[in-house]
Parts: sequence; C-alpha cells; structure tokens
Amino acid sequence: MRFASRADPAHSVAFREALFSGLAPDGGLYHPVGFPDLGPAFARMDDGTSFAECAAVVAAAILAPDLDARRARQLASQAFDFPVTLRRLDERILLLELFHGPTCAFKDFGARFLAGAMEDLLTDRDAGTGAGARSRILILVATSGDTGSAVAHAFAGRANIDVAILYPAGRVSDLQEKQLTTLGGNVHAFQVAGSFDDCQRLAKEAFREARLRDRLGLTSANSINVGRLLPQSLYYIFAATRRAELGGTPPVFGGPSGNFGNLPAGVSAGRGGLPVRGFIAATNVNDVVPAYLASGLFSPRASVGTLSNAMDVGDPSNFERLLGAFGGEWSAMAARIEGKTVSDEKTLQTMERVYRDHGVFIDPHTAVGIAAAQEHLAAQGGLSPERRSQLVVLATAHPAKFADTVRRATGTVPDMPERLARCLRLSPRVVRIGTDFQELCRRLLDMFG
Ligand SMILES: *Cc1c(COP(=O)(O)O)cnc(C)c1O
Repeated sequence: MRFASRADPAHSVAFREALFSGLAPDGGLYHPVGFPDLGPAFARMDDGTSFAECAAVVAAAILAPDLDARRARQLASQAFDFPVTLRRLDERILLLELFHGPTCAFKDFGARFLAGAMEDLLTDRDAGTGAGARSRILILVATSGDTGSAVAHAFAGRANIDVAILYPAGRVSDLQEKQLTTLGGNVHAFQVAGSFDDCQRLAKEAFREARLRDRLGLTSANSINVGRLLPQSLYYIFAATRRAELGGTPPVFGGPSGNFGNLPAGVSAGRGGLPVRGFIAATNVNDVVPAYLASGLFSPRASVGTLSNAMDVGDPSNFERLLGAFGGEWSAMAARIEGKTVSDEKTLQTMERVYRDHGVFIDPHTAVGIAAAQEHLAAQGGLSPERRSQLVVLATAHPAKFADTVRRATGTVPDMPERLARCLRLSPRVVRIGTDFQELCRRLLDMFG
C-alpha cells in the first residue's frame, strides 16, 4: 500500500516514509492510495477465525510489499496478544469490546501496532536513507490522558526508541497519571506546570525546530499517523466475520468519536470490500462533525469539558482524512455516515439503564455510542424486523477506568482489572518542567542529545 497527501496525490510514499514522517512534506495527512481488495481473504474467514489470525491475514495484505507476509504476521500477533470480544447487549446491539489491552482502552491497538512497526523497521538492515533510516529515535507526545498511556505502554522496553510524554499537572486522573509515570526504563514522563494546550504547543514547537528534531530523531506518534490508523481497520473486519452473530446482514458500526481516528479506519475497510450498511458518528456536545453532516459546514470551535473526556475535541485532526475517504464530497459522506450528539445527562442515563437492564457496566465513551445506536433504532420503529439494523457499537474503554462516573450513574463500581490495580501501587517517576520551550529543549538535549 502507498500513501499520499490529498493536496499532491501524484507524489506517493511507502509505508516506512509515512510512518516515520507522520505528515506529508506539504503539511497534509497521508491517505492510503487505494485499499487492497480484502474480498478473497475475507471470504476465507468465518465465525471460528480468531482475532489474531484475522489480523495477521489482513496486515499481510495491507503492508505488502513493505513488510513480507512473515513479518506482517509476526507484527500483528505480537501487537494483539489480548482478546477482542463481541458481546451481545440485546436483540439489535452488539458491543465490540476493544479494551482488553494493557491500558484498558482501544488506543492500545494503534499504539502497539505503531510501536512494533517502528521497532521492526528501525532494526531492519535494508533501511536505506530518508525518514526511518536513523538508528535511534525519540517519540514525543503531548497527552490529556488515554493516548499517552497507550503510547507509553506500547513503546516501553523497545530497542532503539525513547519516549517523552508531556502531560498537564493536576489535569489527568490519578489512574492515568500512574499509567504514565510508573513504567520507567525508556519511558520518561514530563509533568508540565500548565494546561494540555501548553503541552501541545511545546510538542509542536519541538517538531518545528529542524535542528532539534534531527539531533534527537524526534518522531511523532499521534493519531494522524498511518501506523495508528491501519490497525484500527482490523477490528471492523473481525466483527464482520462473525456472520452468524450478525444474522447474515451487513452491520451498522457505531463509534464514539472525538479526534476521528477510529471511524475513517472502518470507512477504509468498507472500501476494501467489507460488507457494511453504514456508520454512526457519535459524539458528546463537541459535535462539529455531526453538525457538518447536517449542514455541510465545518466550523471547528474550542472544546468543552464532558464526562467522555477522551472525546473533548473541538477541531478533530482526522476530519480531513474522513472527508478524503469520500473524495471530499459532503453528500457522499452524509449518505454513509449518520451524526449523533449525546449530552452528559443522556450519557449517565444510558450507563444506568444498561446496568439495570443487562447487568453490564459501560464507560462514558461507550455510553455515547450506545445512546446514539438506540436513537438510530428508535427511528426505525416502522420498519419490518428484517429491514431494521444490526448494530455493532465499539466499546472503547474499560468501565473501571472511569469508576467515578460509573458510580455516579449506577451507585456501584466495577472490579478493577489487576493490570490497573498493580500500576496504582507503583511509585511514580516524573521530570517537572514549566511551560517555557527553552527549558524543555535543555532537558531533552541533556537526556537524549
Ligand atoms: C480516543 C478515544 C475515543 C475517540 O476516538 P477517536 O479516534 O479520537 O475518535 C473514544 N473513546 C475512548 C475511550 C478514547 O480513548
């Protein structure tokens, strides 16, 4: 598969280049040029195919010729060594549980695949020149919580890679802070005396300084990177292989969305021949994409805080990618994707109702997806049963990660998985810095220069 920016589709690059440079030279996002026909591979898979097998087959098809089939399979099996489950909630809604990875959120899929691919390519002796040809890199990320912990865990202990994570002091949850600061080794947590916006500004400034970037081998791991996008197609494909569970009809996928890294991966898989009836873009009140779907006008704005805070994004960086998948055509996109906005009040009600009716705890992000799915079904009241949708809602975080909100909604809390409980018992190691860019530079050069 090759990658190009939309501004310059004639100039395409290989996976390696897209992976290590993050952005195209013209500043645009990389888009896959075409998507391999997954039809034959998909036809060979059925309800008995494990996620690991499905991922290995699809990764080999997507990454050829950059990685041979053996390396692609190995990459997939090492990245996805945890279960993916499809759980029936009710007659019409299935939950695709994507939170059984090390940090208990779906961002583990993208981060672990990205880390494995980078490590593989860095140790590849045929590296040649250009991006990714150097021997050691420093991953720099700014985080408001979930992304940072997924990236930190995914890159921990990798050969030839250091990780520096910038997070705002006092603005991430206790559990998230522990997930960022207790790994040690090649993972370095920088607690910034400022806001998430300060962290993001510091990281952007560092990437803009060409000399600093070269000296440190600075590399980004944010959600626009194709190394995080590609693996997210895999679980859409896996869900579609569960033909018996789906009752033989193509499903509607509902994704709780914020920065819109997740949804375009499903849309791409659909273009590769996956049977899909449609998509729901479910957001909290930060609903610039549902507003765009309704009006054709895209107006980014400042984000507001909500209970589903990993989706508090006012200017989604992957919107361009989503629109690109529809050739830039609003009408094509609006025909395929339905937008839904879910308030905090509705989120809490949904968490409470799902617990009361089904005895299942859900986190506030998943609740946004379920509330949107239920609205979609409510609008189909007049249709005959065969014509009503079968929905697959992506369950993006473990409810124990958001125990306070779960308690508020249901009056009780889910058990904490051992991997989260363990990290709460470890002692943190942090480097404290201010919001001054020169201070960050000095620290980075001291530690990694
Ligand atoms: C990041 C995140 C989302 C939103 O995913 P996008 O790809 O940014 O749309 C949803 N739920 C959880 C738990 C997340 O961490």
